[in-house]
Amino acid sequence: MMLEGKIALVTGAGRGIGRAIALTLAGYGADVAVNYSGSREKAEQTVQEIRALGRRAAAVQADVSRQEDCERMFREVAEQLGVIDILVNNAGITRDNLAVRMSEQEFEQVIDTNLKGAFFCMKLAGKQMMKKRSGRIISISSISGVRGNAGQINYCAAKAGIIGMTKCLAKELSSRGITVNAVAPGYIDTEMTAVLPEKVKEAVLAQVPLGRIGRPEDIAEAVAFLASDRAAYITGQTLQVDGGMGI
Ligand code: NAD
Repeated sequence: MMLEGKIALVTGAGRGIGRAIALTLAGYGADVAVNYSGSREKAEQTVQEIRALGRRAAAVQADVSRQEDCERMFREVAEQLGVIDILVNNAGITRDNLAVRMSEQEFEQVIDTNLKGAFFCMKLAGKQMMKKRSGRIISISSISGVRGNAGQINYCAAKAGIIGMTKCLAKELSSRGITVNAVAPGYIDTEMTAVLPEKVKEAVLAQVPLGRIGRPEDIAEAVAFLASDRAAYITGQTLQVDGGMGI
């Protein structure tokens, strides 16, 4: 039980990778706040599954792109479960388009959710964790933020930005016993990738040396490790969990 007694907040945890992270952290002993923006029902399902594992859990609504929502979420989590030890910035969206066709709105929506949302939560978690002089902040970047990807200039900017913020915050918070890392998934089987055309899926899969699409649990295990005491000497890093796609 490497996370026994820890309290975690996972953003966008009603489905996909976020849900797998919430359940995996709970499986290792953590109590988990399950953030959602729209679908309370899905978040409540995750909460029920965490409780079935014998851990405390709460569903907390917040659109992470809104600072006031994030502030309220952190207050609610502290009231319901206690001050967090682990923050996982997972919430994310795509609005793909070629750069020459992309609207300002498509660019801004992705930056607001994927980058600013992570910044707001990092800031709020950092303040709380500094007082405790311990903590783990883990953000979900992407292989697209490492390598670039045609049709995703907004998403690549946000995901590369996550890596930059991670390095910056690691330096700012290291003297307080807080580590800050990122996980960069490759091609993972979720609703985000389910919408890709079959030809695109085949082309992406052909680039994966391990020869299979990733499972949300593949990402969740990496996050759980970085959240644990076993990763105490790792900070400012981006761990690529991509079946070798980024080699
Ligand atoms: P998903 O679409 O299934 O899940 C995204 C979650 O984020 C959803 O629960 C959604 O409700 C939530 N969300 C979106 N906007 C939000 C907001 N403003 N406030 C709060 N929550 C919000 O996708 P996923 O594949 O599970 O993605 C999870 C993370 O992993 C994302 O950051 C994504 O960019 C990243 N990622 C995914 C892949 C992949 O192949 N699936 C690859 C690399 C990175």
